[in-house]
Amino acid sequence: MDPIRNRALGAYLGLACGDALGATVEFLMPREIKAQYGTHREIVGGGWLRLKPGRVTDDTEMSLYLGQAILDSAGWNLGAVADSFAAWLKSKPVDVGATCRRGIRRYMLQGIVHGPESDSDGGNGAAMRNLPVALFTLGDDALFERCTLEQARITHHHPLADAGTLALGRMAQTLIQGGGIKECRAIANRLIAQHRQFRLIPYPGRASGYIVDTVQTAVHFFFFTDNFESCVVETVNRGEDADTTGALAGMLAGALYGAEAIPKRWLEKLEPEVVRRICEQVEGLLRLSGDS
Ligand code: MN
Ligand code: MN
Repeated sequence: MDPIRNRALGAYLGLACGDALGATVEFLMPREIKAQYGTHREIVGGGWLRLKPGRVTDDTEMSLYLGQAILDSAGWNLGAVADSFAAWLKSKPVDVGATCRRGIRRYMLQGIVHGPESDSDGGNGAAMRNLPVALFTLGDDALFERCTLEQARITHHHPLADAGTLALGRMAQTLIQGGGIKECRAIANRLIAQHRQFRLIPYPGRASGYIVDTVQTAVHFFFFTDNFESCVVETVNRGEDADTTGALAGMLAGALYGAEAIPKRWLEKLEPEVVRRICEQVEGLLRLSGDS
């Protein structure tokens, strides 16, 4: 397989695997995970959402809806993206974050795609779904930044959420284009120079849905592990917003190590329809990036 496609597929499948693995231990603390699972490393479903094994949650679902909106419009159409989020909310998803629900309802009731800046918008909901934007804008950083912020604004408007979402997407893009940890460290250093809150050393140890905690956890374990499985396992065992930190760590690790580095036993647990749509979107989104 072409290496760019392999790494892009690794990122998207890695996101789904991290989501499905982490959902089991979402909202537990590390000590509680240890007591119940030892080290949690199998996709077994359950958790507070009582999921079927392999079921993904809002992180992967919103990514798929966003990716589909880009493909159906053959490019960027913010109205189509907002409509797709509304369609997703109407599909009665298994989980919806409070900030996402509020923003999507604001769009459905008032047609607003650009929410006002708010202190309560510092969650990770815009970051968790941004991979399709990173894929279709590969090689065009100005377009990446514009589309990232536009999709984010539908639900989240907060300087730290913006900065974290942009940094994670740029790391994914750099890795897909053949960069490594060194290039990602440079992106992290720029983020920290702008916003000291994101500093990585020493690792503060929180893994909540607050964008700073989410970025620190996913990036810390990405930097300090050397294969896909341990990156995702160590991340989700920090608990708290484990499906989202797992999804983002899986995105980065999948982009670095490639699709074949993802454990087969995890891929086999994912719903075949989710895998099929991910493969289709990777092809289509990369093709669009070549045209833009
Ligand atoms: Mn989720
Ligand atoms: Mn989550």
